[in-house]
Amino acid sequence: MQKKDIDWGNLGFGYIKTDKRYVSNYRDGAWDEGVLTDDDKVVISECAGVLQYSQSVFEGLKAYTTEQGQIVTFRPDLNAERMMDSAARLEMPPFPKERFIDAVVQTVRANAAYVPPYGTGATLYIRPYMFGSNPVIGVKPADEYQFRIFTTPVGPYFKGGAKPLTICVSDFDRAAPHGTGHIKAGLNYAMSLHAIVSAHKAGFDENMYLDAGTRTKVEETGGANFLFVTKDKHVVTPKSASILPSITRRSLLYVAEHYLGLPVEEREVYFDEVKDFAECGLCGTAAVISPVGKIVDHGHEILLPSGMDHMGPVTQQLYDTLTGIQMGRIEAPEGWIHVID
Ligand SMILES: *Cc1c(COP(=O)(O)O)cnc(C)c1O
Repeated sequence: MQKKDIDWGNLGFGYIKTDKRYVSNYRDGAWDEGVLTDDDKVVISECAGVLQYSQSVFEGLKAYTTEQGQIVTFRPDLNAERMMDSAARLEMPPFPKERFIDAVVQTVRANAAYVPPYGTGATLYIRPYMFGSNPVIGVKPADEYQFRIFTTPVGPYFKGGAKPLTICVSDFDRAAPHGTGHIKAGLNYAMSLHAIVSAHKAGFDENMYLDAGTRTKVEETGGANFLFVTKDKHVVTPKSASILPSITRRSLLYVAEHYLGLPVEEREVYFDEVKDFAECGLCGTAAVISPVGKIVDHGHEILLPSGMDHMGPVTQQLYDTLTGIQMGRIEAPEGWIHVID
């Protein structure tokens, strides 16, 4: 297979149209068999449920070329399960897990020429999503849905090394108690846009959201979960029913415990404790871990001891181990790597 003529090392995180995408439609109570198509346009009613009442959910995962030259994806079964949970919360018909994995495989295989070669740091980002497609004007769930997957090659998240981020404690809330913070829905992002634009204007890279109920506990950022490292090297992550269950974070916790032998704690994390941590990182599929160097709470600065020049040592070990597993340099736990070709 001839790879596309792309400058892999200089790709950003943007949309590049690839050759094929997967489409399945839900009608009369059932999903059709699904097809790969060249057609990148979605044609729906002007009154489609997604356009009126934002009934949509999505996922994000990546395909990698391993050191051995295989194309693989990372734990797509967890994306499939999470998308079923997201769909259920928005009264959408779940797209079955086995079909989700098969659709990911088909889409990646059809776009294999866009999967960046090993060693470039670039990856093929995979975006499954689903939306209500028939006309809905009285508020209710749609009767018809479309499930799609497209792919786009994306560059190494950190060009020239990971620079620690400066984040601020947001005055906005991301998710209500008993709301939709735990599902991957576009609506959670729509309402975070004003907060992130405001944070950027004020010179910050990201927002730290606190729990909306008491504003005393750390939740997450707009699109990544927190990991903290204590001074005695415990890896701590906030536990909350309104946090999106990041697959990267769950994998990093496993790596911390089973590969690095570090104690892990998933528990409520009070903002008051943050000043005592040694390291802080943001985890998600896009960057794996972005180190945080500084957290600003209304002018009060918390400087993480790991500083503003590089990742903390435990964060670095976690990053190296997980990316090593993804790229086939380190043996993966059973079931984590799904080989495509
Ligand atoms: C997608 C997402 C994450 C990261 O999840 P991964 O499965 O690790 O990519 C974290 N927080 C939010 C709000 C998200 O939407």
